[in-house]
Amino acid sequence: MNILTSFSESVRPEFAGPSWQAELRNAVRSAAELCRELDLPPELAVAAADGAEDFAVFVPRAYLKRIQQGDPGDPLLRQVLPVGEEKAVVEGFSRDPVGDTSATLQAGVLQKYAGRALLITTGACAVHCRYCFRRHYPYEESPHSEAAWDQALASIATDETIREVILSGGDPLMLVDERLAMLTKKIAAIAHVTRLRIHTRLPIMVPSRVTDELLDWFTNNQLTSVMVIHANHAQELDSEVAAAMARLQQAGVMLLNQAVLLRGVNDSVDAQAALSDRLIAMGVVPYYLHQLDRVAGAAHFEVPMDEGKQIVAALRTRLPGYAVPKYVQEVAGELSKVILT
Ligand code: SF4
Repeated sequence: MNILTSFSESVRPEFAGPSWQAELRNAVRSAAELCRELDLPPELAVAAADGAEDFAVFVPRAYLKRIQQGDPGDPLLRQVLPVGEEKAVVEGFSRDPVGDTSATLQAGVLQKYAGRALLITTGACAVHCRYCFRRHYPYEESPHSEAAWDQALASIATDETIREVILSGGDPLMLVDERLAMLTKKIAAIAHVTRLRIHTRLPIMVPSRVTDELLDWFTNNQLTSVMVIHANHAQELDSEVAAAMARLQQAGVMLLNQAVLLRGVNDSVDAQAALSDRLIAMGVVPYYLHQLDRVAGAAHFEVPMDEGKQIVAALRTRLPGYAVPKYVQEVAGELSKVILT
């Protein structure tokens, strides 16, 4: 799979300059470069070669600078550095772990739960997370033109029960602002849709993505805007990310976080408590902690559910209720996320 297939069409060359697009063009794209930049043993890059074969390394420098130099166990590094274990074939881990194929209404439009529909807006991302549940997704089948999107949105227009449209991907904020505006205008024209939810890791990876134009887009569309950022560790949330969150809040965006429980990244009460504390300090609600989606290549990140339950139970004794995320699992075919505690 190549999650960058639509990178070139999403990030256009005329947007050159010291911008978020320029930051993406300057991203680290190999394990060898990653190890060199972080003063890590070159053997790690050799071990990474197998894992990177079908899912390349991609790490923006704004994220890179939050990784501890010389520490192979850094929780941010573990999310982006391939390991040989990604090639292991493990029973129960598949290419479509959450039933995206069976939930597809038509190319680019998924519906799993009542009242909501999800659009696969792009296959491009600002980072390649090694645990990505869509690392094998057939992005090339999703709409790439305005006419194709018109067709895709027609299925939402005919179902009056759909109140919320979720922009997903890939990362929807990889689209340039004018394409986002085009898509949103079409969504807002559907009378029964009142909410727009954006699932994105871009404001964390590259905080400069929160441009004045993006804020104008949020302020000027008629839909209620909800953004779900995907932060897994407090160390990801530096002062630049906090400033980006503040700007989004000022534009009236509701901010939620969704983390994944990951072995060697955030599988401790201390790590989860620090993440919640940091999110609350930035005005972001710790909304979900996800059990790992069992995608082929990510088995080494899995934390047993019983251990996850113990972590969340301990969190409840340390934090106020609003700071404790719901521990959930996505199960293909279920009518909602399954609550695990
Ligand atoms: S940002 Fe999301 S979709 Fe993109 S690689 Fe990471 S987990 Fe996957």
